[in-house]
Amino acid sequence: MDASLPKPDLLDRFTQIVGEGHVLREAADLAPRLVENRGLYHGRSPLLLKPSSTQEVAAIMTLASQTGTPIVPQTGNTGLVGGQTPRETGGDIILSLERMNRILDVDPVANVLVAEGGAILADVQKAAEAVNRLFPLSLGSEGSCRIGGNLSTNAGGTAVLAYGNMRQLCLGLEVVLPTGEIWNGLRRLKKDNTGYDLRDLFIGAEGTLGVITAAVLKLFPRPAGHQVAFAGISSPEDALHLFEKASNLCGGALTGFELMPRLGVEFTTRHIAGVRDPLPAPYPWYVLIDISTSDKAETAEVMVQSLLEQGFEAGLVQDAVIASSVAQEQALWHMRESMSDAQKPEGGSIKHDVSVPVSKIPAFMEEAARAVTSAMPGARICAFGHLGDGNIHYNISQPLSDDMAGDKPAFLARWREINGIVHAIVLAAGGSISAEHGIGQLKRDELAQIRSPIEMALMYRIKQAFDPAGIMNPGKVVALP
Ligand SMILES: Cc1cc2nc3c(=O)[nH]c(=O)nc-3n(C[C@H](O)[C@H](O)[C@H](O)COP(=O)(O)OP(=O)(O)OC[C@H]3O[C@@H](n4cnc5c(N)ncnc54)[C@H](O)[C@@H]3O)c2cc1C
Repeated sequence: MDASLPKPDLLDRFTQIVGEGHVLREAADLAPRLVENRGLYHGRSPLLLKPSSTQEVAAIMTLASQTGTPIVPQTGNTGLVGGQTPRETGGDIILSLERMNRILDVDPVANVLVAEGGAILADVQKAAEAVNRLFPLSLGSEGSCRIGGNLSTNAGGTAVLAYGNMRQLCLGLEVVLPTGEIWNGLRRLKKDNTGYDLRDLFIGAEGTLGVITAAVLKLFPRPAGHQVAFAGISSPEDALHLFEKASNLCGGALTGFELMPRLGVEFTTRHIAGVRDPLPAPYPWYVLIDISTSDKAETAEVMVQSLLEQGFEAGLVQDAVIASSVAQEQALWHMRESMSDAQKPEGGSIKHDVSVPVSKIPAFMEEAARAVTSAMPGARICAFGHLGDGNIHYNISQPLSDDMAGDKPAFLARWREINGIVHAIVLAAGGSISAEHGIGQLKRDELAQIRSPIEMALMYRIKQAFDPAGIMNPGKVVALP
């Protein structure tokens, strides 16, 4: 047995903290927790622990720090950068918060909800709805991802335009530190200028600084009016002009403004059950517009109609449909949210989760398409995303040409090279190589190359200050020099 791996008696000591019935030790049980959604990372681990309380998490971290045992927090296992996957070394123990899934308090007057770190996002949304409030974070993975993971990745999703990402939706946190100490920062204050903001350090840290065990989240009034429109357009340039009109007309009522290419619509209609092309004729690009108003339903109706009229008059909108029922609204969003899944049957897909300043999106799209197809003739670019946030999921499907057809491994072997091409254009435009998915294992080395030495030095110092023993999700986000 490898001397660096935890011995069976140490595994027994960890097991005793949560109880025999709340661990996974058999290879078959552990297998689904060792691989992430895209199959990019396959890790190894001897043990998965499912604590039921903050005190049990603290006991686990205390034992881990005393014995130098690496711990990997995992909640929904839907992360897209390998942050929740243990390393291949085989000694990382997985800490799953799936039993800590309770909603602890809902206060519709103060507009706050307190949840444990393992609460499923969809359950938090439902708990808010039950008191006529909205928790606006919305992701394609909301039925499985959990609040601890959402906070640790600073998740974005489809309503960032109006409500912000997870950082903006959180007031307070409870965190178990790598030493086993508990920081109770479950404050419910909108105003709190008392020194360094520890909460903001843990949000987006991807489990490298501590374990988030509970959070105070912000709620909002439920919109009285809601409209979803889907428009065929000619180019990302036209989408940008339409976005400007939508912002002027709707202000804060503009909740979502998503861009999709024709290829993405073809993929979804071909591979996703029940998805139909909403328009009778094809268009090169599409936008999905989501408007929510707080006063009355008619305001949203007037807004969406005025916007489309202005779009037609300016020659920006070629054709459009407005959803006339909740089922139609859901169908239009379902098409957009299935776009990534619809790429799977088309062979390999090289992904990018990038952001650029919104006004630079058309130029970025043009330049990236030119560079990618020149490096890889026949590459099928399926770039879609949250145009309103400047965030594009620049996905590239395997070419259909003879040399690449059927050769998924050869295509995927060029992942880093193609990332390098796209990311160089993003950085030149003042953008980011990770808009909402995080760094994890996937972009760790690239982060160190693109951030300034002083920025990286500060990150290393923060990591060392919180986790001097290096046991908290090691090898993710930053690798200590
Ligand atoms: C179909 C699909 C659609 C998606 N759409 C979006 C989208 O629109 N926007 C978006 O931002 N993301 C999206 N994602 C990515 C993913 O769902 C989010 O990153 C989500 O927030 C991860 O939550 P999780 O509970 O699954 O976390 P996990 O995958 O379990 O973990 C993610 C990271 O957080 C750390 N972590 C988990 N729990 C804790 C904790 N309690 N304390 C400390 N660290 C912790 C892990 O170590 C890991 O680094 C999508 C994923 C899928 C599969």
